[in-house]
Amino acid sequence: MTKPHGAMRATLRRLAGPALVAAILMAAGVCGCAPQAQIIRPSPPAGLAPAAARRTMDIGVAADGKPLVVEIFGNGPKTVLILGGIHGDETRSVAVARFLADHLAANPEAVAGKTVAVLVNANPTGAANRTRTNANGVDLNRNFPASNWRPGAAGKREFFGPFPGSEPETQAILRAMELLRPDCIISLHTDGRDAMCNNFDGPAEGLARLMAAQNGYPVLANIGHPTPGSLGSWAGIDRGLPVITLELPQNRPGEECWQRNRGAILEAIAAEVPSPVRQ
Ligand SMILES: [Zn+2]
Repeated sequence: MTKPHGAMRATLRRLAGPALVAAILMAAGVCGCAPQAQIIRPSPPAGLAPAAARRTMDIGVAADGKPLVVEIFGNGPKTVLILGGIHGDETRSVAVARFLADHLAANPEAVAGKTVAVLVNANPTGAANRTRTNANGVDLNRNFPASNWRPGAAGKREFFGPFPGSEPETQAILRAMELLRPDCIISLHTDGRDAMCNNFDGPAEGLARLMAAQNGYPVLANIGHPTPGSLGSWAGIDRGLPVITLELPQNRPGEECWQRNRGAILEAIAAEVPSPVRQ
């Protein structure tokens, strides 16, 4: 991936909101006019009932070329975007996203009146290598073009990238946001200390409380440490979208995590959410 030169980087830092996103997407060659940008192709897996209507959308590739594919269910006006595995070593979050996508495929009534987009594995390289970061050593959940993004040192556990939105995976998620225009976002993580929670950014406290009633995890406005450049900072705080960061257990089987959180996630999908302040 060709990276913008110094002047472009400076420009990116000065810009804000959608203009920054557009600049990043264009700099990365992933603007809406790119040939692959609008591909939404039906791909019902073998054996799946037609009513399940699973579609897929290619949103880009990881830094080492691994494909990034969103699975989409339903056609309703409310759109929910759900991401698993943005931290590659949090493998239970990928497992739960996989269980969710398969559940939605088998139970189309769960998406009645909704469009649910699931990026099961947002960091396939990290998942393959059991690393938090992508192939470039960047923490993708610190790489979004949020107003609180800041530079960091390479090689650290939370290297934020050379500039906001520098990574192909981040750009792919930004592209998915532009194409799908989600009304709310749920990002699945795991916590190594098993400090599970329904963390929220933006107007999502009500949604977090709905989920807490199902999974029993606490509702937290603050996860306890700074998260500059996170998806919650960019989409929730800067853009006013409801964003839930659902921290799952790291040391329990994936199916157990899914069973514990199935009701919470389905409740969030079914819920009416406050109208986001789009910018
Ligand atoms: Zn995480």
